[in-house]
Amino acid sequence: MSEPRIKHYLVNEKYEDPGIVIEIPTINQYILFDIGNIYKLDRDLIRKIDKIFITHTHMDHFIGFDFMLRNKLGRPQTVEIFGIDPLAHNVYSKLQGYTWNLVEFEPEIIFKVKNLKEDTYEYYEFNIKRKFAKDFIKEEKVENNTIYENEHYKVKYAVLDHKIKVMGYSFEYKDKLFLKKEKVQQLPLKGKEVGDFKQWLSDESNVGKKYKIADKEYDYEYLKEEYSYTQKGIKISYITDVIYSPKNKKKIVELVKDSDYLYCEAVFLEKDKEQAQKVYHLTTTQTAEIANLANVKNLIVFHFSRRYGKNKDIVLDEIRKYFPNVS
Ligand SMILES: [Zn+2]
Ligand SMILES: [Zn+2]
Repeated sequence: MSEPRIKHYLVNEKYEDPGIVIEIPTINQYILFDIGNIYKLDRDLIRKIDKIFITHTHMDHFIGFDFMLRNKLGRPQTVEIFGIDPLAHNVYSKLQGYTWNLVEFEPEIIFKVKNLKEDTYEYYEFNIKRKFAKDFIKEEKVENNTIYENEHYKVKYAVLDHKIKVMGYSFEYKDKLFLKKEKVQQLPLKGKEVGDFKQWLSDESNVGKKYKIADKEYDYEYLKEEYSYTQKGIKISYITDVIYSPKNKKKIVELVKDSDYLYCEAVFLEKDKEQAQKVYHLTTTQTAEIANLANVKNLIVFHFSRRYGKNKDIVLDEIRKYFPNVS
């Protein structure tokens, strides 16, 4: 069965600012995780990105906000930004770093921020027409660890320790059901009924129930097997800027379990693990251990310390000893 058409990649070189892009043209979704230096990204792509998930607002994860903003000006758009407190304050401060008179004829741009604070989501909006004032919209109790969901995918998170609270993320593209067209054509279903049939099969809560076609009843399991196939989803996780601690390790493994792709920092070599602990980052072997424990299929590492220069292999080789499928 074909894989969903999803493109994902690091924004920069492994020794430069962290961040990944997920592109899903089939559903017109363009997503960014972290917004460090993004000068390398195509301008058209930046204009298309309308969901940004931020781990934390250390400079190397947030300095690209201005460049994004500049590329957004001139066409109407709403951009949703997700992350942990004080994200809303940081977005506001960025926006207020400029003067916004003469914007009355500008197309409307709105930034919607969903700011996790303790066990509450705070929603804010920043509208160019209001000179990006910080408008509080509502708050909502956190019920689970899904911060965003639509019919195609969801994004889950874990709150991790980096001497401040940071977010780790997991993007999960859902399984998709398709009808076997030639077979369905043989059923006495017309027009809209085909859509209803597909809808019914897609709904897992119908397991064990029956569906009526031309006065005959059929089991869900039978119909699903005979008349449809499922395209497997995909799980892509993004973890960066965390200390190696039992608590972090447990939370990360739980979040990224069975990922098809885990993007994870590997800042230091094993010999520099004291430094890693001091500045709340992971080493090669710690990252490899997490990838093994979580049973991930592919590991992509980044955020290499500048102390190793541009020599990527020195880091990759060390990880490969413990987790071969790394790039
Ligand atoms: Zn950091
Ligand atoms: Zn960082």
